[in-house]
Amino acid sequence: MPDKINLSNISIVLHKPRHPENIGAAARSMCNMGLSQLVVVNPKNYILKKVLKLATHEAADIVEHVKFHEDLKEALSEYNYVVGTTARLGGERQVITSPSRLAEKLVSVSRKNRVAIVFGPEDKGLSNEDIRHCHILVNIPTAEFSSLNLAQAVMIICFEIFTAGRKENEGFAPRLANRHELDGMYDQLKDILVRICYINHENPDYWMNKLRHFFTRMQLRAREVSIIRGICRQIDWYGKKCYEDGLKEKKKEQNITRVNRKYEARNTKH
Ligand code: SAH
Repeated sequence: MPDKINLSNISIVLHKPRHPENIGAAARSMCNMGLSQLVVVNPKNYILKKVLKLATHEAADIVEHVKFHEDLKEALSEYNYVVGTTARLGGERQVITSPSRLAEKLVSVSRKNRVAIVFGPEDKGLSNEDIRHCHILVNIPTAEFSSLNLAQAVMIICFEIFTAGRKENEGFAPRLANRHELDGMYDQLKDILVRICYINHENPDYWMNKLRHFFTRMQLRAREVSIIRGICRQIDWYGKKCYEDGLKEKKKEQNITRVNRKYEARNTKH
């Protein structure tokens, strides 16, 4: 079946924007390109008058319906697919794609999944901690000076999404696990891996970050997360069972030894 991008499933998330004018200009870019859901996390200065001035009358509706959050993790909990945008490359910033490849991917992903595209603050961009929430990172190629103005970066990504949406595509689009489901799975995995001594209880996050990278590459579906959580529950159950069986066995052995001792004691008396 021909597949069209579902723009209503795609949100633009501005994390800690510092300048209200950039929020307004980002809303205008979204409006130009047919996107309407804007999420703003912990803005530094939210001065509505300044936001609206750059948004123009056309994008005022987007500004009126902005969803505000205090915290990025909470803001992303309902999304199934999280895209981070970064001017910087290297280090933890792996699995980088281009805006056009991202847009092509979103054609199928957005059909059944809620997608968040996260932009960082103007001064520092997204931190390593922030990008751990992302399934994929996108970089807008530039000449040597890589840092674009926030609203211009939003425009380029929205333009690519809009353009990809006009082409018809074929694609299989399963429902991916959302952030809430993934975070639950990571908590459960961490707990079980510490308890079976696979990861060091003093520094569990070192290994968990590696596992997060691995699972992020896999793009887990909701059903697959349930399977992994089921395996964790089974390991937990089996560990407890072995422990309880061991206790029972020990008790049995103690009873046998006690009976033997009694028997030996009686025999030596006679
Ligand atoms: N100084 C920061 C850039 C901040 S610009 C840094 O070096 O990371 C504000 C935001 O605009 C970035 O967090 C990112 O979301 C977006 N952005 C700017 N330039 C970009 C680029 N070349 N590719 C992708 N996103 C970019």
